[in-house]
Amino acid sequence: MRTVPKIIAIDGPSGVGKSTVSRLIAKHYGYKYVDTGAMYRAFAIGAKNSGIDTQSDEAIEKFSKTVEIRFEDSKDLELAGPKIFFNNEDFTSLIRTPLATKLSSLVSTKKSTRDYLTHLQRNMATQGSLVMEGRDIGTVVFPDADIKIFLDASEEVRAQRRSSDTEQRVSEELGQVQKELRERDERDKNRKHAPLETAKDAVLIDTGKLSIKEVTEKIIEAFDERLK
Ligand code: C5P
Repeated sequence: MRTVPKIIAIDGPSGVGKSTVSRLIAKHYGYKYVDTGAMYRAFAIGAKNSGIDTQSDEAIEKFSKTVEIRFEDSKDLELAGPKIFFNNEDFTSLIRTPLATKLSSLVSTKKSTRDYLTHLQRNMATQGSLVMEGRDIGTVVFPDADIKIFLDASEEVRAQRRSSDTEQRVSEELGQVQKELRERDERDKNRKHAPLETAKDAVLIDTGKLSIKEVTEKIIEAFDERLK
């Protein structure tokens, strides 16, 4: 008998610790890990490289028909995370730049972008159980997810974490990181299509005073309870 794939949806703002925790949860249950932020980042860089008008839903829709985005597991999933390919080109290092951060925040407000990536994300669930992290997974992509987690933390804590990320510019001031983080959060929360919000039935976890291990354990405990 074929079992129905399970979906663990993990949402929350930037810098809240979603990626690390999601990878650990995926490893624990042997589920596939999907970082939807990486998909928005790859799409944004691909769109920029192709020179299309990213303000135009029509242009984005046409462009998306030429796009193939896929993940490939790296050897050490926990440390490195999966690689991402855009039209068979390895975009893994291109998406962790300040430019990708900015462009993905902008292009993700467009309905055409969201329609395309949401469709791709839903398709991934046909291949097996997964842990998917993002901004709208529990609200829009999988409103029937087996469990929805919303991670949150104060802006100060999240900016602090982001500025110590090796991916960020070393010289970047904490104040500047916080300002940019706030701008992106505001854009995510206030956009018309699939804004960042807590699903009514989400398990809310404030990661501010918890270690990664503690957050991971809380989620495992909550999900094990659902599986009983
Ligand atoms: O999570 P990450 O910071 O890599 O995501 C990059 C950008 O993609 C975010 O700033 C957000 O605007 C957008 N995003 C989104 N919906 C998702 C995942 C990411 O709008 N599910």
